[in-house]
Amino acid sequence: MQIHSPEFKDASRIALHNEPLQKALGNLRQGFPQKRAAAVARLPEFEQLRDQARDLKNHVLEHLDIYLETFERNCQAQGGQVHWARTAEDARQAILQICQRANAKTVTKGKSMVSEEINLNEFLQQHQIHPVETDLGEYILQLREDHPSHIIAPAIHLNLEDVSDAFHAHHGPYGYHLREEDPAKLMAEARAVLRHHFVAADVGITGANFIVAETGSTIIVTNEGNGDLTQTLPRVHIVITSIEKVVPTLEDLSLMLRLLARSATGQEFTVYNTLSSGPRRAEDQDGPEEFHVILLDNGRSDMLGGELQDMLRCIRCSACMNHCPVYGAVGGHSYGWVYPGPMGSVLTPQLIGIEQAQHLPNASTFCGKCESVCPVRIPLPKLMRHWREQEFERHLSPAAVRYGLAGWASLAKRPALYRWLARLSNWGMRLLAGGKGRLRKVPLAGGWTDWRDLPAPQQGTFMDQWRRQQEKQS
Ligand code: SF4
Repeated sequence: MQIHSPEFKDASRIALHNEPLQKALGNLRQGFPQKRAAAVARLPEFEQLRDQARDLKNHVLEHLDIYLETFERNCQAQGGQVHWARTAEDARQAILQICQRANAKTVTKGKSMVSEEINLNEFLQQHQIHPVETDLGEYILQLREDHPSHIIAPAIHLNLEDVSDAFHAHHGPYGYHLREEDPAKLMAEARAVLRHHFVAADVGITGANFIVAETGSTIIVTNEGNGDLTQTLPRVHIVITSIEKVVPTLEDLSLMLRLLARSATGQEFTVYNTLSSGPRRAEDQDGPEEFHVILLDNGRSDMLGGELQDMLRCIRCSACMNHCPVYGAVGGHSYGWVYPGPMGSVLTPQLIGIEQAQHLPNASTFCGKCESVCPVRIPLPKLMRHWREQEFERHLSPAAVRYGLAGWASLAKRPALYRWLARLSNWGMRLLAGGKGRLRKVPLAGGWTDWRDLPAPQQGTFMDQWRRQQEKQS
């Protein structure tokens, strides 16, 4: 996926005026958060599970090398092959070699954000291998040459007409010449067309929501069942996943799955939770002849032991973006790369560089809702603040902001002067408001007053009010 994060501000402006997108985002805001809240209310121990999950992930990150090597050993013992990929290019090359050895022409794919991260589809096409997305949302996006705007509902930005148009434009060769608008018929059409690809595929590529060290297994969690066909029908199954997805035991996996489903879609449990443990055995009726796991680092090990380590706890549930007022207003494409919303605002600068992603950590009101719903308690606002500091220190923010902040810092070190200026501006704002109680325009604050009125101060400064209150109480 091409990087468009530097255009975040322009893309957001356009998104705010995109009516169909705003309608789709309205549905998102009404859907996932309510379902999550209901699911959480039905599970009294939900908060304890969050603590356990946070502690478990912290423990795994402290011993990541041990758990990954354990996973490798056990996966190999099951007949699987593990490929370590330090970079996106290493992962692409490993996948290409496996596909070429299998003489693959068509590859079916389950939904995988890591495959988006390494730009896999484009790369395979450059090598005359045809990838076919099989997750319904991803399939629609592929037909439209579009990209996911959400990590679990990739086509959330589209409406029914978009889907009808895409199918009508591409399904003629499969005998579908009428433009359908009935969702059930569209679903049946996609299912029938995808069957051709499932049968034709030489290789199936899936992601993994988790990998289990004690059994050497990978697991995918889906509601469509497409991933199961992707990993069982072709001769070769490749799992592309990142190193932080490992959990020690099946028991730990069960904890994570309980949290994931409720935090993501508000389900008690996702419909299909499929474990893969090596290739087909002699007694198995189906399954691949080869089973490969690509373990991608791509900058993640640099986060270990540093301020961003907490981000590696992420289980990609999407709760943070589902509750984020900024994501809810501008949608996922505005973020300009694979991972949108608050989790993307922390992860993207690490993966593509803060120089390209400097706007993203600023795309937050710091309301804290993301942290309050994160099932593994990632302190997302704190991590975004880390990137804001980096942005400031590397002189990436505009000069006006830098000088403004430097000026404020210098004032904050001189309390008497600070208080005097605060009183002066308080008085000035009340004067400007002229008894109306609000200001239409404020010099240097156009970003606020272009869109909304600024309430004028009703009394003195906060410090003066505080002092008066303390005096009254003493
Ligand atoms: S940061 Fe937390 S809430 Fe957001 S996707 Fe990751 S686990 Fe879910």
